[in-house]
Amino acid sequence: MEDTKQPASLKRLYLTIDDFPTAASEDMLDFLVQKDIQPLIFCIGNTLQHQKRLAVKALSMGFILGNHSFAHQHFSKLSTKEALDDIAIADGLLEEIHAEAGVVWEKKFFRFPYGDKGDGRRGRIFTRSFFPWKKIKKNAIQERLAELGYAVPELPSITYAYYNQKLLQDKDLHWTMDVMEWCLKSDEGMFGIRTEGDVLQRLFSRNPFDCRGAVPEAQYGMLYSDSGEIVLMHDCEKTFATFKEVINEIHSEGYTFSGF
Ligand SMILES: [Zn+2]
Repeated sequence: MEDTKQPASLKRLYLTIDDFPTAASEDMLDFLVQKDIQPLIFCIGNTLQHQKRLAVKALSMGFILGNHSFAHQHFSKLSTKEALDDIAIADGLLEEIHAEAGVVWEKKFFRFPYGDKGDGRRGRIFTRSFFPWKKIKKNAIQERLAELGYAVPELPSITYAYYNQKLLQDKDLHWTMDVMEWCLKSDEGMFGIRTEGDVLQRLFSRNPFDCRGAVPEAQYGMLYSDSGEIVLMHDCEKTFATFKEVINEIHSEGYTFSGF
């Protein structure tokens, strides 16, 4: 393994998990308890509405749930009205579930499907916006998130300039480190990631390819940078084995996950 730039114990990792709930959710929650990890779990409304019991269980276990939209669409494809309605429906559903669990929904977090803020870049946030007029829609969406009480947590250990200068201005919680294990959802793989070994190799790479475009920090290298990381992984039956392996590998290198 390559030398780390700073001791692993000093680098803060925050785990976020998108696309809850699935057939793997219960096992995933048990695994997270066993590993003593308190992630932020983003829910898809249209699956959540049929699996409320699982969400209530997650809340009663102490997990934090966030809004990952209702229909999990690219927000760049939606009209402004469709986008605002989608957010509100998922918000209402999560309010209901918190009430059912008897948990006050204090910290409200939102994450766009595919990281697509609705500005035409479809989640490729490091590319220039090709559709500047879509900023009006993007701003309307951000205003609605603010009205509904969504905010980004204070994570001072994240020191990337692109995060602090750009992403922190928005109300949705983006990520800094995409494990890209979701590439294994497709049998052929995506972006050259075809096996669990490919995911792990990229995880410990100094210069990993990022599907959002070229990351503007020269010394990125995920696990080796001085910044903390908001780690993105997914609740998914097909990639659950890799999910566990990634967590185990990260732990065995001496890193731990911090709670939100
Ligand atoms: Zn998603």
